[in-house]
Amino acid sequence: MIKGIFSFLPHTASFILHPCLLSSLTAILFGLITGSFFNVLIYRLPRRESIIRPASHCPGCNRPIRPWENIPLASYVLLGGKCSGCRQPISLLYPFVETITAAASLILLFTVAASRPMLIAPNVHLFLQCFALLLMIPITIIDFRHYIIPDALTLTLLAAGLLASFLPGDIPPFESILGGLAGAGTLLAIGWLGKLAFRKGDAMGGGDIKLCAAVGVIWGAKIALLTIFFGSLCGAVAGGATLLLGKLHQSHRIPFAPFLALGLWVAVLFGDAMVRGYLRLFM
Ligand SMILES: [Zn+2]
Repeated sequence: MIKGIFSFLPHTASFILHPCLLSSLTAILFGLITGSFFNVLIYRLPRRESIIRPASHCPGCNRPIRPWENIPLASYVLLGGKCSGCRQPISLLYPFVETITAAASLILLFTVAASRPMLIAPNVHLFLQCFALLLMIPITIIDFRHYIIPDALTLTLLAAGLLASFLPGDIPPFESILGGLAGAGTLLAIGWLGKLAFRKGDAMGGGDIKLCAAVGVIWGAKIALLTIFFGSLCGAVAGGATLLLGKLHQSHRIPFAPFLALGLWVAVLFGDAMVRGYLRLFM
């Protein structure tokens, strides 16, 4: 009987230690912790608060959040979605951001990171690209709520992309700078055309331009242009649909970062395949 139980052990161990399962669990854990950090960015950056001090506290009663109340996802469930001090409901946005960041990390593990084994040969560029893709989650939520993209995020990405281009990797410095100029220039041109066509203020915000510059610096001109193309396409469809439904007044502002973020994910995951398919139509 006991011998029978032990005969299962190597099998169980090999299942738990299977590289695929182990790396999936690592990606989910990394995503949950990163998502928890994103929640701090989403709450504090638009309020121009430091992201380090003071330590996390309940916005209702200012009570400091104890370490066990700060475990991603688990604490929300254990606390029943309420502050243990003032019983005020904790926003569902917190567990949502943590879950979606964990899911996005898992997708990146099997797509972007799978093409090149990151753990065997640490690749700064690849890590930066994955982190930038995840950072689109707080950027989307902040722009959606406040109509801004904090410089702290776009300029950090820009600087990190430029620095990374000097390390051995996919994008050398010249391509990186060219990509940044292509991203920012294209968006500036679209904004300028929009201004001419609709005869109203700046159609493109400075934050959108810096975001496209950062995408160009990190990925090069091709992905930057594809991002703007897919982003504008999704934005036009969504804007047109809301206009038709009468939910949107022509003078209303539409945050553009959520569409650029979606455009970037589509460009990185499917851009090459789509361009190849498109070219095949003419050959
Ligand atoms: Zn409280």
